[in-house]
Amino acid sequence: MEKFDVTVIGSGPGGYVAAIRCAQLGMKTALIERYATLGGTCLNVGCIPSKAMLDSSEHYYNAVHHFEEHGIEVKNPKVNIKQMVERKRGVVKMTCDGINFLMKKNKITVFTGHGSFVNKTTIEIAKADGTKEQIESVKTIIATGSKPSSLPGIEIDKKRVITSTEALELSEVPKHMIVIGGGVIGLELGSVYARLGAKVSVVEFMDGLIPTMDKGLGKELQRVLKKNLGFEFYFNHKVTGVTSKGKEVTVNADNKNGEKIEIKGDYCLVAVGRRPYTENLGLDKAGVKLDNRGRIETDDHLKTNVDNIYAIGDVVKGAMLAHKAEEEGVYVAELLAGQKPHMNYNLIPGVVYTWPEVAAVGFTEEQLKEQGKKYKVGSFPFKASGRARASMDTDGFVKVLADEATDEVLGVHMIGPRTADMIAEAVVAMEYRASAEDIARICHAHPTFTESLKEAALDATAKRAIHI
Ligand code: FAD
Ligand code: NAD
Repeated sequence: MEKFDVTVIGSGPGGYVAAIRCAQLGMKTALIERYATLGGTCLNVGCIPSKAMLDSSEHYYNAVHHFEEHGIEVKNPKVNIKQMVERKRGVVKMTCDGINFLMKKNKITVFTGHGSFVNKTTIEIAKADGTKEQIESVKTIIATGSKPSSLPGIEIDKKRVITSTEALELSEVPKHMIVIGGGVIGLELGSVYARLGAKVSVVEFMDGLIPTMDKGLGKELQRVLKKNLGFEFYFNHKVTGVTSKGKEVTVNADNKNGEKIEIKGDYCLVAVGRRPYTENLGLDKAGVKLDNRGRIETDDHLKTNVDNIYAIGDVVKGAMLAHKAEEEGVYVAELLAGQKPHMNYNLIPGVVYTWPEVAAVGFTEEQLKEQGKKYKVGSFPFKASGRARASMDTDGFVKVLADEATDEVLGVHMIGPRTADMIAEAVVAMEYRASAEDIARICHAHPTFTESLKEAALDATAKRAIHI
C-alpha cells in the first residue's frame, strides 16, 4: 500500500491549494478527486464558468443597449447561446488543465475516484472502472465541498427545474426564468439570462436581495436590476411547490400574510443555498463527527475530532467562498508543517458579479448596530466619479464605516463598476487596521473608480469629500 504524509480528498480550490502548499513544504502528498477533471465546483460548475457567461452576456447587453450611444453601429446583434456555452467550456478546460499542470509541477500524486475512509489512516479509492485501491496517509485533509440544496416539495428534474449546474449549460435563452432565492447565484445567473433577453422573476423568502450583506447594497442592486434588466421581485415569499409540465413550470409561493401566488415560466432556477457534501466518505469508519448542520465539525484550527484529520472549505462552517477555502487550505498545510499560520475570518471579502458589481468586507451597518458600536458613515456615489461617467457606469456608491472614536475602518461596502477588484484595497487597509483618514490621505490615480473609495473615506473621517 502506497504511503503518504498527507492526503487531500477533493480537488476544489480548498483541496488543490492545500495539496500544493503541503508539497511546497516538503510533504509527500496525494490528491483524490471523484471527477475526471480537477478544480471542483469552482472551476467546473461555479466561479469560473459563471463569470465566463457573465462576461459574454455583458458584451451582448452592451452591444444592444450602449454601443449606439458610444457611436458604434452594429446591426441587430444576435445571441448564439451554443457558441457562448462552448466558449465557456473552453475557459473551464483551460483552467482545469492548468491544475493538472500544477499537480505535476509539485509532484503531487493524483488519484481519480471516490475516496472514503477505511479507518483513520487508510483511504480507499473507488474508480470509475469498478476497481479499488487503498492508500495509507499519516494526515488527511477533507475538502469535499458542497452541492446545491433544494426545498421540500421541489423535484429538480435538471431540465426545466434546474440548479446552477444546468443553468450554465442551457441550449436556449429562457423566455421567463423564475429564480427561487435572491442570493448570489440567483442574481448572477438571473443577470446572465436577463441580459440575453429573458424575463426574470425572483422569489425571495427575506425582505430584500443578498440578505446577508449590508442592507444598502441589496436595495441599490434591486433598483438597478429592475431599471436595467427588468427584473421582477417577490419578497417575503416562501416557495411551497414547483411543478413542471412539458415546457412550462409553475412556482407556488405564500407571502407572509398567507396569500398565495402562482408564477408561470419556462425555467425555474433553484438557488437557495448549498449543502456540505460528505456522502459515502466513510466518516463513521474514521470516527469523524458532523455538526448539527451536516458540516464536518472542526476546532479553531480546522482539526476534526480525530487527531490526524482536518477539514476545510465549503464542507466546514463559514462562508462558502473559493478564496475562503483556499486560505484554509494554506492554513492547514502550514499548521501540519509546524508553522503558526493565521486566518482573519472578518476580512474575507464577499463579491457578487452582477453589473454593477457588489463587494464588501468587514462589518455591515446592521452588525455594528447589533453590537452597539458607535460608528461614522462616509459614502460617495459613482455618479460623482469622472471615471464612472466616462464609462456610463454611474449607478451605485461606496460606503465606509469607521469607529466613531478611533476612526479605524470597520467595514467597506460597495456597489458599482469593478468593485470586485476595488475591494482589495479596503481589505489591505483593514488588515493593517487603517483609519478612514489613512485611506483618505493615500494618492489614488485619476481618473479611476478607486478614487470613490478615497472620497468615501474622506467623507467618513471628516465629512470633507472633495467631489460631492
Ligand atoms: P469544491 O469546489 O466543491 O470541491 C470539492 C471537490 O471534492 C469536488 O470536485 C468533488 O467532486 C470532490 N469530492 C467530494 N467528495 C469526494 C470524495 N469522497 N472523493 C473524491 N472527491 C470528492 N465562490 C467565490 O468565491 N467566488 C465566486 O465567484 C463563486 N461563484 C460561484 C458560482 C456558482 C454557480 C457556484 C455553484 C459556486 C460559486 N462559488 C463562488 C462558490 C465556490 O465554488 C465554492 O465556495 C468553492 O468551490 C468551495 O471549494 P471547496 O474546495 O471547499 O469545494
Ligand atoms: P445564498 O445563500 O447566497 O442565497 C440563497 C437565497 O435563497 C437567500 O437569499 C435565502 O433567503 C433564499 N431562500 C432560502 N429559502 C427560500 C425559500 N424557501 N423561498 C425563497 N427564497 C429562499 O445561496 P446561493 O445563491 O444558492 O449560493 C450558494 C453559495 O454559493 C453561497 O454561499 C455563495 O457564497 C456561493 N456563491 C458565491 C458566489 C460569489 O462569490 N460571487 C457566486 C455564486 C455562489
